[in-house]
Amino acid sequence: MGTKNNNPPGTQAEAMRSSLAGWWHRLTTRLGAATKSPAIPQALWDATLMHYPFLAERGAADLQQLRLLSAQFLGSKQFSGAHGLQITDEMALAIAAQACLPVLKLGLHWYDDFSGIVVHPEAMLAPREVHDDAGVVHHYQEELSGEAMSGGPVTLSWRDVQEASIEDGYNVVIHEFVHKLDMRSGQADGCPPMPSRALARRWQTDMQAAYRDFKEALSMANRFGGPRPWLDPYAATDPAEFFAVSSEAYFVNRTRFGEEWPTLLALFDAYFVGP
Ligand SMILES: [Zn+2]
Repeated sequence: MGTKNNNPPGTQAEAMRSSLAGWWHRLTTRLGAATKSPAIPQALWDATLMHYPFLAERGAADLQQLRLLSAQFLGSKQFSGAHGLQITDEMALAIAAQACLPVLKLGLHWYDDFSGIVVHPEAMLAPREVHDDAGVVHHYQEELSGEAMSGGPVTLSWRDVQEASIEDGYNVVIHEFVHKLDMRSGQADGCPPMPSRALARRWQTDMQAAYRDFKEALSMANRFGGPRPWLDPYAATDPAEFFAVSSEAYFVNRTRFGEEWPTLLALFDAYFVGP
């Protein structure tokens, strides 16, 4: 996906790994593999909700479920910090709680094809090359805020995690983990496995229309100075990025998302929440 990054070789990755600190790591180490879901301390949970108000907005039952899933997530995933970054309890829980939001109703088993979560302090630089019309190869580096690999780890830039914005509908954690859902059907193509044929058909129709409308609105804004569509222009990259970017907005700013994309709001409710 547009958010891909080259993985460092194994030994280098090992060397970059910093030891994990904190309550959940000590507990999971002490209790062993059999009991891997220590309850999240109340103060830590409250601080996370305060920091990410779109989580706090959820009803009491949703929050209870989110807390439970987050604990299971922390017990089953391996966090590592790149370039000496120390993963604190606050960081791990911030990532866990946001990652669990898309699977609140779908279930944590959607993430059972991987365990690694690598956190970089800053955006990652990935080498890229393009071939122009004259056949000349141009090399450049692309800044990545995150990466999701099919069947592999999720990589996140902590700086970008902290730049999550409700106003802009921006959230890198949700973005990358929605790619993981999408990839459960093979390569990310903007359509995760659907619970029914009817929803799969509706998904194709509604997503194609929304993607086309978004690209048109964006090109009108760029060419003629029309109003810019609300979603991040990166959504115009391809249908997989459109799904990931629109999901960020759906989860962090439901009100605005519903105003801008009423058809997608109903579609995403049908998929993420169910009947
Ligand atoms: Zn992406």
